Formats: sequence, C-alpha cells, structure tokens
Amino acid sequence: MLVTNHVLSGAVLAAAGPLGRRPAAAFVAGAVSHLLLDAAPHWGDEREHVFLRVAVVDGLAGLAALAAGTALAPRPRRLAVLAGMAGAAAPDLDKPSQLFFGASPYPARFDAFHKRLQRESPRRWPQELLVAAGLAALAVRLLRR
Ligand SMILES: [Zn+2]
Repeated sequence: MLVTNHVLSGAVLAAAGPLGRRPAAAFVAGAVSHLLLDAAPHWGDEREHVFLRVAVVDGLAGLAALAAGTALAPRPRRLAVLAGMAGAAAPDLDKPSQLFFGASPYPARFDAFHKRLQRESPRRWPQELLVAAGLAALAVRLLRR
C-alpha cells in the first residue's frame, strides 16, 4: 500500500475520535492500522523499476500529506494527528532505510512478518488511487471541523 495512504489513514484515526488528545495512543493506533491495511488487498508491484519510480513519488506525497495534515489539525489535536500519521508510516521505514543505508531499522522477524502480510497486485492501481482520494477528502473534512 502507498505510504501516502497510510499517512492519510493515521490522520483520519487521530482526527476522528478520542485519540486526538493522546499522541502515544495515536502513534500505536497508526502503526496497527498500517499492518491491518497491508493485510487488505492493495496495489503493489514487485518489478524493481516500477516499485522505485512509484516509491519516490509516493514518499514525497506522503511527506506532503504529513505536513498538510499537521498544518490543518486544530492546535489541541495537532501533536496526536502528527503522531498518528508517523505511527501509520513507521512500519514502511524499512524501504528507504534499505535503499539509502542498506539495512532495515527493524528486527528481521518483524520485516519478514510485514512482508508476509502483503496482499498485493499490480492490477489494483485504480483502487489505490480511489482509496487515496477518499482518505484525503475524509482527512481534510475531519481536520477542518
Ligand atoms: Zn507496509
């Protein structure tokens, strides 16, 4: 799943309910949401050249979503929203870390578990974009309340 979608789901989680004033809980909920969403059918492409091209754009879009979510969040919820987004993105830090430093920050057992969860298909790109649009619209709506 795109990291942008994980970031947006973390924002929705922290913006929607009681997690909005509990940054540590929002971080944990974001990380759990990442693993649940990775276990749901989503887009993914094992071909290195496709994956890398999408991953660079997705990484930048995810950072933009992180900045926008933080800026849009009402001040009392801002830290929890940022924590929810960070927690939701955190499990995927293995990818840029592998690319730039040649190693994952996580134990091998966690990375193997994370990889086993994936239900990817290269044919789900339209679904991935639809999920992104829906989560972005929901996040903006909830954050601007
Ligand atoms: Zn993941």
